[in-house]
Amino acid sequence: MKHELTIGVLGLQGAFAKHMVMLSKLDVSTMLIRYPEELDQCDGLIIPGGESTTMSILIHEMKIRDKLLEYNRPIFGTCAGAILMAAGSNDPRVTTLNRVPVRATRNAWGRQVESFLAPVNLSFDEKPFNAVFIRAPKLVNPRPEVQILGRLENETVLVQHDNVILATFHPELTDDTRIHTYFLKLIKN
Ligand code: GLN
Repeated sequence: MKHELTIGVLGLQGAFAKHMVMLSKLDVSTMLIRYPEELDQCDGLIIPGGESTTMSILIHEMKIRDKLLEYNRPIFGTCAGAILMAAGSNDPRVTTLNRVPVRATRNAWGRQVESFLAPVNLSFDEKPFNAVFIRAPKLVNPRPEVQILGRLENETVLVQHDNVILATFHPELTDDTRIHTYFLKLIKN
């Protein structure tokens, strides 16, 4: 029998629900991940947006950190999830998982810009992605092995390193499924 894909969405805190809705639209099964053992059951993992400081504490308290460090299937981190997957951040309260050699600067678009919509240029598709940024981080100093998949003007907003992708915006909040589809392709290959 064909193995059906199951994508886990880390559900400790933040914007996990809309990811699940989008994945259902793409006809894949989803499961909420709250306990370490649950990670064994999913073919890929999304770490959603939210508050990276809080999520960092919960990852520790729920004893899921070690499992996240050794999880070797594809991971997609969005916004706060991207901060957590980075090599480090400018906020000592966030203990990152150090899975992608890039640094994250929290809330880096300036206070007056709480959230905005902007066209991201993608490396894998001609049509720009109209992206929602909510108190978004910036990704800085990517190591040369990090692939840049998306830029907003001169800023790097979407990257890939091995089987991990990071977006500083919220692709689950639009109807455009291209980035989730890209992630699913990573899992299938
Ligand atoms: N500002 C949040 C943080 O630094 C991220 C915001 C988001 O995930 N939308 O953790």
